[in-house]
Amino acid sequence: MNLQETKDRNETLFKKEFRERTEIPQCLPMQVDIEITTRCNLRCFTCPKTYSKEKGVHINRELFERFAQATFETARSVNLTGFGEPMLCPDFEYFFNKSVSAELEVGFITNGTLLSPSWLERFLQAKTHVFVSVDAATPQTSRLMRPQLDFDRLVQNLQLWNRLKAQNPDSKAHLRFNFVPTRKNVHELPGVIELAAKVGAERVEVLNMRLNDLAESARKESLVFHIPLARKWFGKAREKAEALNLDLILPPGFDTSVDDASAEEIARNVDTPVEVNLPGSKYPLACSAPWFRINVNIRGDVFPCCWYPFPMGNLVRENFDQIWHGEKYRKMRRRINTRFPHLGCKECLMIWGITAGMPEAIFRKEHLVDRMHTFLQKLRRNRLGFRKHSNE
Ligand code: SF4
Repeated sequence: MNLQETKDRNETLFKKEFRERTEIPQCLPMQVDIEITTRCNLRCFTCPKTYSKEKGVHINRELFERFAQATFETARSVNLTGFGEPMLCPDFEYFFNKSVSAELEVGFITNGTLLSPSWLERFLQAKTHVFVSVDAATPQTSRLMRPQLDFDRLVQNLQLWNRLKAQNPDSKAHLRFNFVPTRKNVHELPGVIELAAKVGAERVEVLNMRLNDLAESARKESLVFHIPLARKWFGKAREKAEALNLDLILPPGFDTSVDDASAEEIARNVDTPVEVNLPGSKYPLACSAPWFRINVNIRGDVFPCCWYPFPMGNLVRENFDQIWHGEKYRKMRRRINTRFPHLGCKECLMIWGITAGMPEAIFRKEHLVDRMHTFLQKLRRNRLGFRKHSNE
């Protein structure tokens, strides 16, 4: 069986086992995320790293190899991303080549500062998904959001991508923008959409700021606390994206609920496979993450996704099968798509998660039994400590 046939077989198994909610699946993850560095050359206003004293580190090759050996043959895509600038990692080239030779689509989020002409050429030769963080359309606002970033240089790098892509019309590489909105920069979202269209980006994804571990001065700029402002500029951004025929994904959480139609729209549009739950279900979506994807951080801790806060195991101490088929994963798969999932999933802000990214709207609708359940979970979490390695 060649590599593509192995991946096809795994995908067939995944679809069947997710549908049947199999606790000990034969499928292996189709999407693998690995944090290759926690170092960064910028200190952005919306990033917890800016407010942390922890020193960044790069992953060691042995851990990467261990993970690659367990997952690359069957996976479709790898995301070389974490809390850092991936292109800063001295082994980035090695990891990129290794992923390409395993016939994986390679994605990573970058601040764009290290996008050299030679790297852009190489990305265009492979199935690469380059997600560039762009939080401003002007140098002035860029300085507020990312003080060390040379904004004009970033725009030049993006323009170069566009020229090179035009010379490689058959390229399978994709450029997308990620935009984190705050009160300081949301008015520039339409301008960022214009920039995306000019440099050949295919999509602008607007992502809710993570409030954990931020300084109070940053937290209070979150649009969660400025809903009318968010609605005003998201509306203008929608018009701009429609006029330019550009794909725009806005964060959930700014409306009051997810109805059946919007849940179906989410399920159709997100890259991660999700199922729409039956009308009247407490959660609009059934999340596939514990079957579909896996996330490994710099220390080898394994998570079902980039949101869930408690590890399922650790790849330094355990082998992959022990974790993937272990009790924590089994419990997660058993509970995630029921009325009583883990608290981490109830609070999930991911658009493909069970809440469709709108946990507060669902908490508001909870009745007595569900409220009690959530209350007890929170009590237990506080008693154990949020960071303690627990499966709630
Ligand atoms: S519901 Fe959210 S936190 Fe839970 S596994 Fe899915 S994506 Fe992760």
